[in-house]
Amino acid sequence: MEDMSKLQDELDALNAKITKQGAEVRQMKKDGAAAEKIGEAVNALQALKLEAGTLTEKLKGDEPDFNRKAFDDLIIRKMFVVPSFEIHGGVKGLFDLGPPACGLKAAMIDLWRKHFVLTENMLEMECTCLTPEVVLKTSGHVDRFTDLMVKDPATGECFRADKLLEDAIDDLIEKNPTMPTEEKEDHLRTQRQADAFSPGELDTLLTKYGCKGPSGEAYSPSFPFNLMFKTSIGPEGTSVGFLRPETAQGLFVNFRRLLDANAGKMPFAAAQIGNGFRNEIAPRSGLLRVREFCMGEIEHFVDPNDKSHANFPTVADKVLVLFGRDDQLGSGKTKKISIGEAVKSGLVNNETLGYFMARTQLYMEKIGMNPECLRFRQHLATEMAHYAADCWDLEIKSSYGWVECVGHADRACYDLEVHSKATNTPMVATVKFDKPQEMEVAKLKFDRKALGMVFKKDARTVSAALEALAESWKDFEPIATALEASGKTTVDGFEITKEMVSWEKTMKKVHEAKFTPSVVEPSFGMGRILYSLLEHSFYQRDMDEQRNVMKFNPQVAPQKCAVLPISSNPECNAAVDEIAAELMQSDLATRVDKSTAALGRRYARSDEVGVPFAVTVDFETLTDGTVTIRERDSMVQVRVPKKEVCNVVFDIVHQRTTWEQVTKNYPVVQVDEGDGTPAEKGADARAKTVVEANSRGRFSRPAPKK
Ligand code: AMP
Repeated sequence: MEDMSKLQDELDALNAKITKQGAEVRQMKKDGAAAEKIGEAVNALQALKLEAGTLTEKLKGDEPDFNRKAFDDLIIRKMFVVPSFEIHGGVKGLFDLGPPACGLKAAMIDLWRKHFVLTENMLEMECTCLTPEVVLKTSGHVDRFTDLMVKDPATGECFRADKLLEDAIDDLIEKNPTMPTEEKEDHLRTQRQADAFSPGELDTLLTKYGCKGPSGEAYSPSFPFNLMFKTSIGPEGTSVGFLRPETAQGLFVNFRRLLDANAGKMPFAAAQIGNGFRNEIAPRSGLLRVREFCMGEIEHFVDPNDKSHANFPTVADKVLVLFGRDDQLGSGKTKKISIGEAVKSGLVNNETLGYFMARTQLYMEKIGMNPECLRFRQHLATEMAHYAADCWDLEIKSSYGWVECVGHADRACYDLEVHSKATNTPMVATVKFDKPQEMEVAKLKFDRKALGMVFKKDARTVSAALEALAESWKDFEPIATALEASGKTTVDGFEITKEMVSWEKTMKKVHEAKFTPSVVEPSFGMGRILYSLLEHSFYQRDMDEQRNVMKFNPQVAPQKCAVLPISSNPECNAAVDEIAAELMQSDLATRVDKSTAALGRRYARSDEVGVPFAVTVDFETLTDGTVTIRERDSMVQVRVPKKEVCNVVFDIVHQRTTWEQVTKNYPVVQVDEGDGTPAEKGADARAKTVVEANSRGRFSRPAPKK
């Protein structure tokens, strides 16, 4: 047998080469290199990928694969996720969440709000999904959120141009099995460059390969397709709007009010949870690439000259798996390093960015994500927007590979500056100096009469807005230039003219200065996180295809407890109702299963939707008032007075105690689950020792209190 660690090293080195080659290809495409040169580079990249694929297969060995069929079947059968509008044939990239996934998502969002918004005193907003064109024009989405498309002129159906070319070449090769190797290579080279061609080049190639639409007609020339959903706002149909592709813009445009709401104090963060919409051309991979998805976005506004974070020391020792830019291009290996060290060494650009990365990791661990499947990958220089200072994606490993689920970007001052410039609205905050400093300002003189005649009661608002800008010559200069050039300009939506104000550029001793804040933005794709959590939670007990389990931790489990009677006897049913009512009154979502199926079958049903505890009312309950509580993963059961059930479950869900502690407080019982599986089968040796340790008596230890 080959040495696995040696193989892993080889694979890491290959992955580094792939990243490097990929970056080179991207750069060549950006620089407009000759198609032939790009083709050669792409060929080399493909060869490396092929080699890596073979190595990966070797490394997998006999490791059991993720059982996607069983997983997908469970997800649909238990109604976690269903294709939207299924009975009408469905729509690609649109999914509905069913009851268990709604419960899971609600719990994830609840924890997100507590972990970020409440703990950090963030200012939460809920902005509209409908966004006017001007906002997204300003942010750059109208011009840059595009892919190349062609249309079938007869039907109007749209296709991604590069994908059509790739498919056409596949078809040609498949239909000509005797094609000479050289010719085949030539076609494949063209195929590999499909996404590098200009619209004109693509059109020529589509014609050359005889690509025709489903109607039989040649496609239209390729054109850029914007991924945003366009609509019109209002009955006239003249005002263009879009469904927001991200939630962030709503927070940026509200910056001034948010700063006010925070009493002008910096730094501060605003947060928003809501849906984003992207008209993906090729939706795929379950919930990973869809057309409507829930996002959780935080915009942390900070002084560009001081990106320290007051709470950084609380996370400095947190160890993260980092896949830095140099490692992606060099060793191909990730590093385990404390975020404190990563910031100190300059690997992560600043404390604020590092702080949020660590907080994201803690959140993922809290909701039950497998920490082995989490890593932070830094953007390569070629991936980053020119204005960004540093970006790290939290990637989660699932059966689809490593997928970006949370972006962490230091976006510098870009967002506030573009909105400020487009609206002529200052988007600034104030910093107080330790010692007064000399600064260039504008000294204003108003013609109050002229202002009053035009603006009446708003005259003061207008002069205050101008005074605010005048505090820094840099901010006032565009106003001065516009007034000098055209005699008028707009400030805060008011059109002012040259007659209303005159100015003088001068120096002033100042105790504070205005600045445009930088933005550090963690952007969570809640749908991707939810999907990854579903995969990480899924397992088959003893590799048995019939015994699927979702191991949600009690905090996020959609239902916290199942209550089952051992018999349909009315007294048992009454006890079940009583316990279930008490649990639900304590906000513990509860599932009652009074069906006549064997108890083991009913446990299995609640395992499938991830219920962590099952309470069984049996004949002993009727005589001594005790019930059993079964823990889902160990299948260990304890006997508990029914009056204490609610406290036990409540305390575990709210992390005031642990199941392990519960097994010490109450006697562990060994029960046949009704399908021939003794409960002790899945229990570990520790559970058995608990039975022995508990031989002093049934309730000899105090029950935990709420
Ligand atoms: P972005 O603004 O492109 O960085 O996206 C922010 C986050 O949204 C990403 O980290 C993903 O988790 C998520 N996301 C982006 N596109 C999609 C999509 N089509 N479907 C589901 N989630 C997405």
